[in-house]
Amino acid sequence: MRFQDKVTVITGGGSGIGAATARLMAREGAKVVVVDLAEAPARAVADEIGGTAITADVADRASVEAFVEAAVDRHGRIDILVNNAGIGCFGRTPDLAPDNWERVIAIDLNAVFYACRAAIPHMTGGKAAIVNTASISGMAGDYGFTAYNAAKAGVINYTRSLAIDHAREGIRVNALCPGLIATPLTAGAKAMPGLEAAWHDTIPMGRAGTPEEMADVIAFLASDAASYVTGAIVVADGGQTAW
Ligand code: NAD
Repeated sequence: MRFQDKVTVITGGGSGIGAATARLMAREGAKVVVVDLAEAPARAVADEIGGTAITADVADRASVEAFVEAAVDRHGRIDILVNNAGIGCFGRTPDLAPDNWERVIAIDLNAVFYACRAAIPHMTGGKAAIVNTASISGMAGDYGFTAYNAAKAGVINYTRSLAIDHAREGIRVNALCPGLIATPLTAGAKAMPGLEAAWHDTIPMGRAGTPEEMADVIAFLASDAASYVTGAIVVADGGQTAW
Protein backbone atom coordinates (compact mmCIF):
# COMPACT_ATOMS: atom_id res chain seq x y z
CA MET A 1 0.00 0.00 0.00
CA ARG A 2 2.13 2.88 -1.33
CA PHE A 3 -0.24 5.58 -0.10
CA GLN A 4 -1.52 4.26 3.23
CA ASP A 5 -3.32 7.18 4.96
CA LYS A 6 -1.71 9.75 2.66
CA VAL A 7 -4.01 12.75 2.39
CA THR A 8 -4.25 13.30 -1.35
CA VAL A 9 -6.04 16.19 -3.04
CA ILE A 10 -6.74 15.77 -6.76
CA THR A 11 -8.22 18.60 -8.84
CA GLY A 12 -10.23 17.59 -11.86
CA GLY A 13 -10.74 14.30 -10.04
CA GLY A 14 -14.22 13.77 -11.45
CA SER A 15 -13.14 12.67 -14.92
CA GLY A 16 -10.42 11.26 -17.13
CA ILE A 17 -6.86 11.27 -15.79
CA GLY A 18 -7.88 12.73 -12.41
CA ALA A 19 -10.55 10.11 -11.79
CA ALA A 20 -8.19 7.27 -12.75
CA THR A 21 -5.57 8.70 -10.39
CA ALA A 22 -8.12 9.00 -7.57
CA ARG A 23 -9.14 5.35 -8.03
CA LEU A 24 -5.55 4.07 -8.16
CA MET A 25 -4.32 6.01 -5.15
CA ALA A 26 -7.39 5.16 -3.07
CA ARG A 27 -6.88 1.45 -3.87
CA GLU A 28 -3.40 1.86 -2.43
CA GLY A 29 -4.57 3.41 0.82
CA ALA A 30 -4.80 7.16 0.14
CA LYS A 31 -7.45 9.34 1.74
CA VAL A 32 -8.52 11.10 -1.44
CA VAL A 33 -10.21 14.47 -1.74
CA VAL A 34 -11.76 14.75 -5.19
CA VAL A 35 -12.07 18.38 -6.30
CA ASP A 36 -14.01 19.28 -9.42
CA LEU A 37 -16.23 21.96 -10.92
CA ALA A 38 -18.66 19.24 -11.91
CA GLU A 39 -20.42 18.22 -8.71
CA ALA A 40 -22.07 14.93 -9.67
CA PRO A 41 -19.04 13.25 -11.28
CA ALA A 42 -16.82 14.26 -8.35
CA ARG A 43 -19.34 12.84 -5.89
CA ALA A 44 -19.65 9.63 -7.90
CA VAL A 45 -15.87 9.08 -7.90
CA ALA A 46 -15.58 9.96 -4.20
CA ASP A 47 -18.44 7.60 -3.27
CA GLU A 48 -16.89 4.80 -5.32
CA ILE A 49 -13.49 5.09 -3.61
CA GLY A 50 -14.60 6.11 -0.11
CA GLY A 51 -13.16 9.59 -0.48
CA THR A 52 -14.48 13.12 -0.12
CA ALA A 53 -15.87 15.30 -2.91
CA ILE A 54 -15.54 19.07 -3.00
CA THR A 55 -17.10 21.23 -5.70
CA ALA A 56 -14.81 24.12 -6.59
CA ASP A 57 -13.75 26.31 -9.49
CA VAL A 58 -9.96 26.18 -9.52
CA ALA A 59 -9.87 29.42 -11.51
CA ASP A 60 -11.22 31.23 -8.48
CA ARG A 61 -8.61 31.86 -5.77
CA ALA A 62 -11.12 31.98 -2.93
CA SER A 63 -12.63 28.70 -4.10
CA VAL A 64 -9.17 27.08 -4.15
CA GLU A 65 -8.34 28.38 -0.68
CA ALA A 66 -11.68 27.04 0.55
CA PHE A 67 -11.10 23.49 -0.75
CA VAL A 68 -7.61 23.39 0.72
CA GLU A 69 -9.00 24.58 4.05
CA ALA A 70 -11.79 21.99 3.89
CA ALA A 71 -9.29 19.20 3.18
CA VAL A 72 -7.10 20.31 6.09
CA ASP A 73 -10.10 20.67 8.43
CA ARG A 74 -11.07 17.10 7.61
CA HIS A 75 -7.66 15.40 7.59
CA GLY A 76 -5.30 17.75 9.43
CA ARG A 77 -2.71 18.03 6.66
CA ILE A 78 -2.05 17.47 2.95
CA ASP A 79 0.57 14.92 1.84
CA ILE A 80 -0.02 14.87 -1.91
CA LEU A 81 -1.47 17.51 -4.22
CA VAL A 82 -2.26 16.63 -7.83
CA ASN A 83 -3.02 19.76 -9.87
CA ASN A 84 -4.80 18.14 -12.75
CA ALA A 85 -7.94 20.13 -13.64
CA GLY A 86 -7.67 21.55 -17.12
CA ILE A 87 -9.48 22.71 -20.22
CA GLY A 88 -8.46 23.24 -23.82
CA CYS A 89 -9.55 25.95 -26.19
CA PHE A 90 -9.01 26.12 -29.95
CA GLY A 91 -8.32 29.47 -31.57
CA ARG A 92 -5.58 31.15 -33.55
CA THR A 93 -4.78 34.49 -31.99
CA PRO A 94 -6.90 36.83 -34.19
CA ASP A 95 -9.95 34.63 -33.53
CA LEU A 96 -9.33 33.91 -29.87
CA ALA A 97 -11.55 35.98 -27.58
CA PRO A 98 -9.54 37.48 -24.71
CA ASP A 99 -12.10 35.97 -22.32
CA ASN A 100 -11.22 32.51 -23.61
CA TRP A 101 -7.49 33.19 -23.30
CA GLU A 102 -8.00 34.39 -19.73
CA ARG A 103 -10.18 31.42 -18.78
CA VAL A 104 -7.60 28.91 -20.07
CA ILE A 105 -4.73 30.68 -18.30
CA ALA A 106 -6.82 30.87 -15.13
CA ILE A 107 -7.71 27.16 -15.04
CA ASP A 108 -4.58 25.64 -16.54
CA LEU A 109 -1.93 27.89 -14.96
CA ASN A 110 -3.13 30.31 -12.28
CA ALA A 111 -5.00 27.55 -10.46
CA VAL A 112 -1.78 25.57 -10.03
CA PHE A 113 -0.21 28.55 -8.27
CA TYR A 114 -3.31 29.16 -6.12
CA ALA A 115 -3.47 25.53 -4.99
CA CYS A 116 0.27 25.25 -4.27
CA ARG A 117 0.24 28.56 -2.39
CA ALA A 118 -2.66 27.43 -0.21
CA ALA A 119 -1.52 23.83 0.29
CA ILE A 120 2.25 24.12 0.86
CA PRO A 121 1.94 25.49 4.43
CA HIS A 122 0.01 22.28 5.25
CA MET A 123 2.51 19.92 3.58
CA THR A 124 4.69 19.69 6.63
CA GLY A 125 5.27 15.94 6.98
CA GLY A 126 8.76 16.13 5.42
CA LYS A 127 7.73 13.71 2.65
CA ALA A 128 5.17 15.58 0.59
CA ALA A 129 4.66 15.59 -3.17
CA ILE A 130 3.04 17.82 -5.75
CA VAL A 131 2.33 16.50 -9.23
CA ASN A 132 1.16 18.93 -11.90
CA THR A 133 -0.49 17.67 -15.07
CA ALA A 134 1.12 19.70 -17.85
CA SER A 135 1.18 18.47 -21.47
CA ILE A 136 3.57 17.84 -24.33
CA SER A 137 1.72 20.85 -25.80
CA GLY A 138 3.66 22.93 -23.28
CA MET A 139 6.96 21.75 -24.78
CA ALA A 140 6.40 22.68 -28.44
CA GLY A 141 3.94 24.53 -30.61
CA ASP A 142 0.64 22.98 -31.56
CA TYR A 143 -1.66 24.42 -34.27
CA GLY A 144 -4.43 26.63 -32.91
CA PHE A 145 -3.99 25.91 -29.21
CA THR A 146 -2.05 29.04 -28.27
CA ALA A 147 -3.62 29.69 -24.88
CA TYR A 148 -3.41 26.06 -23.81
CA ASN A 149 0.19 25.72 -24.99
CA ALA A 150 1.21 28.91 -23.21
CA ALA A 151 -0.46 27.82 -19.98
CA LYS A 152 1.10 24.35 -20.03
CA ALA A 153 4.56 25.81 -20.80
CA GLY A 154 4.04 27.95 -17.71
CA VAL A 155 3.16 24.91 -15.63
CA ILE A 156 6.35 23.17 -16.75
CA ASN A 157 8.68 25.94 -15.66
CA TYR A 158 6.63 26.74 -12.57
CA THR A 159 7.10 23.09 -11.60
CA ARG A 160 10.87 23.33 -11.89
CA SER A 161 10.99 26.59 -9.94
CA LEU A 162 8.70 25.32 -7.20
CA ALA A 163 10.77 22.14 -6.89
CA ILE A 164 13.90 24.19 -6.26
CA ASP A 165 12.18 26.47 -3.76
CA HIS A 166 10.81 23.64 -1.60
CA ALA A 167 13.31 20.79 -1.99
CA ARG A 168 14.81 21.33 1.45
CA GLU A 169 11.39 21.20 3.11
CA GLY A 170 10.84 17.68 1.82
CA ILE A 171 8.30 18.72 -0.79
CA ARG A 172 8.98 17.17 -4.17
CA VAL A 173 7.36 18.80 -7.22
CA ASN A 174 7.13 17.13 -10.62
CA ALA A 175 5.05 17.43 -13.77
CA LEU A 176 3.54 14.86 -16.07
CA CYS A 177 3.35 15.73 -19.76
CA PRO A 178 0.78 13.46 -21.35
CA GLY A 179 0.50 13.09 -25.09
CA LEU A 180 -2.86 12.19 -26.60
CA ILE A 181 -4.99 10.48 -23.96
CA ALA A 182 -8.48 9.12 -24.54
CA THR A 183 -10.62 11.15 -22.13
CA PRO A 184 -13.71 13.36 -22.43
CA LEU A 185 -11.31 16.28 -23.11
CA THR A 186 -10.21 14.76 -26.43
CA ALA A 187 -13.45 12.97 -27.32
CA GLY A 188 -14.90 16.03 -29.09
CA ALA A 189 -11.81 16.63 -31.19
CA LYS A 190 -11.86 13.00 -32.36
CA ALA A 191 -14.99 13.83 -34.33
CA MET A 192 -13.12 16.41 -36.46
CA PRO A 193 -12.57 14.85 -39.93
CA GLY A 194 -9.11 13.33 -40.29
CA LEU A 195 -7.87 14.52 -36.93
CA GLU A 196 -7.90 11.17 -35.17
CA ALA A 197 -6.04 9.50 -38.05
CA ALA A 198 -3.51 12.35 -38.14
CA TRP A 199 -2.92 12.08 -34.40
CA HIS A 200 -2.39 8.38 -34.58
CA ASP A 201 0.02 8.74 -37.51
CA THR A 202 2.22 10.96 -35.34
CA ILE A 203 2.34 8.57 -32.38
CA PRO A 204 4.94 5.81 -32.74
CA MET A 205 2.87 3.47 -30.56
CA GLY A 206 -0.06 4.07 -32.91
CA ARG A 207 -2.68 4.68 -30.27
CA ALA A 208 -3.88 7.13 -27.67
CA GLY A 209 -2.88 6.55 -24.07
CA THR A 210 -5.40 5.67 -21.36
CA PRO A 211 -6.19 7.63 -18.20
CA GLU A 212 -5.00 4.62 -16.21
CA GLU A 213 -1.57 4.79 -17.88
CA MET A 214 -1.31 8.45 -16.80
CA ALA A 215 -2.47 7.59 -13.28
CA ASP A 216 0.40 5.08 -13.02
CA VAL A 217 2.94 7.82 -13.79
CA ILE A 218 1.34 10.35 -11.43
CA ALA A 219 1.24 7.73 -8.66
CA PHE A 220 4.92 6.91 -9.20
CA LEU A 221 5.88 10.59 -8.97
CA ALA A 222 3.77 10.98 -5.81
CA SER A 223 5.18 7.84 -4.18
CA ASP A 224 8.26 7.23 -2.06
CA ALA A 225 9.69 5.25 -5.00
CA ALA A 226 10.38 8.69 -6.53
CA SER A 227 12.10 9.97 -3.38
CA TYR A 228 15.04 11.49 -5.33
CA VAL A 229 12.89 12.80 -8.18
CA THR A 230 12.01 16.49 -8.07
CA GLY A 231 11.77 19.17 -10.74
CA ALA A 232 11.28 16.42 -13.33
CA ILE A 233 9.12 16.83 -16.40
CA VAL A 234 8.01 13.33 -17.26
CA VAL A 235 6.69 12.69 -20.75
CA ALA A 236 4.18 9.89 -21.32
CA ASP A 237 3.15 10.15 -24.97
CA GLY A 238 3.62 6.83 -26.75
CA GLY A 239 6.82 8.24 -28.27
CA GLN A 240 5.17 11.24 -29.97
CA THR A 241 7.93 13.68 -29.01
CA ALA A 242 10.69 11.15 -29.76
CA TRP A 243 10.39 11.34 -33.57
P1 NAD B 1 -11.21 15.66 -18.51
O1 NAD B 1 -12.01 16.69 -19.21
O2 NAD B 1 -11.61 14.23 -18.58
O3 NAD B 1 -11.06 16.05 -16.97
C1 NAD B 1 -10.79 17.35 -16.56
C2 NAD B 1 -11.57 17.63 -15.30
O4 NAD B 1 -11.26 18.96 -14.87
C3 NAD B 1 -13.09 17.56 -15.50
O5 NAD B 1 -13.68 16.73 -14.52
C4 NAD B 1 -13.54 19.01 -15.34
O6 NAD B 1 -14.83 19.14 -14.77
C5 NAD B 1 -12.45 19.54 -14.41
N1 NAD B 1 -12.38 20.99 -14.49
C6 NAD B 1 -12.36 21.76 -15.60
N2 NAD B 1 -12.37 23.06 -15.26
C7 NAD B 1 -12.38 23.10 -13.92
C8 NAD B 1 -12.39 24.16 -12.98
N3 NAD B 1 -12.42 25.43 -13.38
N4 NAD B 1 -12.39 23.85 -11.66
C9 NAD B 1 -12.38 22.57 -11.25
N5 NAD B 1 -12.38 21.51 -12.09
C10 NAD B 1 -12.38 21.79 -13.41
O7 NAD B 1 -9.73 15.86 -19.07
P2 NAD B 1 -8.38 15.00 -18.92
O8 NAD B 1 -7.99 14.63 -20.30
O9 NAD B 1 -8.49 13.96 -17.89
O10 NAD B 1 -7.40 16.16 -18.48
C11 NAD B 1 -6.75 16.18 -17.23
C12 NAD B 1 -5.51 17.02 -17.37
O11 NAD B 1 -4.64 16.40 -18.31
C13 NAD B 1 -5.76 18.45 -17.88
O12 NAD B 1 -4.93 19.35 -17.19
C14 NAD B 1 -5.34 18.36 -19.34
O13 NAD B 1 -4.92 19.60 -19.85
C15 NAD B 1 -4.20 17.37 -19.23
N6 NAD B 1 -3.86 16.72 -20.49
C16 NAD B 1 -4.77 15.93 -21.13
C17 NAD B 1 -4.42 15.34 -22.33
C18 NAD B 1 -5.37 14.47 -23.12
O14 NAD B 1 -5.04 14.11 -24.26
N7 NAD B 1 -6.52 14.07 -22.57
C19 NAD B 1 -3.15 15.55 -22.88
C20 NAD B 1 -2.26 16.36 -22.20
C21 NAD B 1 -2.62 16.92 -21.00
